[in-house]
Amino acid sequence: SLVVVTGASGFLAVHCVHQLLERGHRVRATVRSTDKGDYLRQLFDKRHPGKFEYVVAEDLETPGVFDDAVRDADGVLHTASPFHMNTEGRATETLIKPALRGTTNVLESILKSKTVKRVVVTSSFAAILTSTKPPPQRYTEADWNSTSVEGHERDGDNQVPVEAYRASKTLAERAAWDFVATHQPSWDLATINPPFVLGPVLQQVASAERLNTSMALIWAFTHGQKTDADLPAPSGSVVDVRDAAQAHVEALLRPQAGGERVGPAAQTWTHQDLVDALHASAVVPEAWKKQTPVGKPGSGRGLPVHELVGTKAEELLGIQYHAFAKTVDDGVRSLLDLEQRG
Ligand code: NDP
Repeated sequence: SLVVVTGASGFLAVHCVHQLLERGHRVRATVRSTDKGDYLRQLFDKRHPGKFEYVVAEDLETPGVFDDAVRDADGVLHTASPFHMNTEGRATETLIKPALRGTTNVLESILKSKTVKRVVVTSSFAAILTSTKPPPQRYTEADWNSTSVEGHERDGDNQVPVEAYRASKTLAERAAWDFVATHQPSWDLATINPPFVLGPVLQQVASAERLNTSMALIWAFTHGQKTDADLPAPSGSVVDVRDAAQAHVEALLRPQAGGERVGPAAQTWTHQDLVDALHASAVVPEAWKKQTPVGKPGSGRGLPVHELVGTKAEELLGIQYHAFAKTVDDGVRSLLDLEQRG
């Protein structure tokens, strides 16, 4: 079958593409530049000749820009959405609109296709948790973020970036479910709502400063950009990028995933747990460990966090989660490769 993956140059999406190809599907990626598309073709062509192609869709919000890409597809994974905190006071333009209009725009194109059967939209734990509730809190897929969108309506571009990001994901996911309810299309929808995603970087990264937001945290902690003062920060749940990608692929292929919202989450974590794992790792070089804060080893487990319960992904999608130490080790290995590549 032919699967379209939007935002295929992203950290999570490259793993989705990889797994789809490994399972024998054809993939049509959408990317913002030929440079990113060529990188992916090089990455996949040798092992999967003739199975990978890409199209350039520069602007997510241009009406009809996805029409040709999805016309003859069997399924679509819509992952493209901005995940960064560099809003520079323009959160509406840089986060909210591309997330929201990008999603409805892709769905408008899919509505014109006669072949698509299943659409999977990448949402987030950000669309589930309500950050203003004091932790500890436990959430499931039945919960919705109830404050970030109001915050955006109230504060507009003055909203703090992380809350604007949460609003962008909530609005986009809501719009996707509303779209299906309104149009009653011949295809059905599933959303994947991962918490913080870590693990091996396969995507093209020009320099460490250009790392995707979640893996940039590991780089920051191992390169002297974070101190003990950053450790008590409340964190939440975490999932390996390979498990998050597998959840997308399973949600695309398993009939019973239609109409479902699934949050793949392996365990809770805190920044202290992350530095503990980095110091315990045989993969992290001594030079990196020297620059990694130590804090109070073991104390992270006691901190109250926002937890996403990850059992639905196990039961409905058959996900078996990687252990956190493995996620960190393999993530670090990929960062070392990146450093060597320069
Ligand atoms: P990346 O930044 O690596 O990937 C984002 C992808 O979206 C890239 O392909 C990027 O293209 C594309 N994109 C971003 N903004 C635009 C835009 N304005 N127009 C067109 N394309 C755009 O991050 P992730 O892989 O982590 O994110 C992928 C998805 O997963 C997102 O929907 C994100 O919200 C979601 N997610 C991520 C989590 C995490 O911890 N990483 C947790 C939960 C959800 P380009 O490469 O050209 O910039």
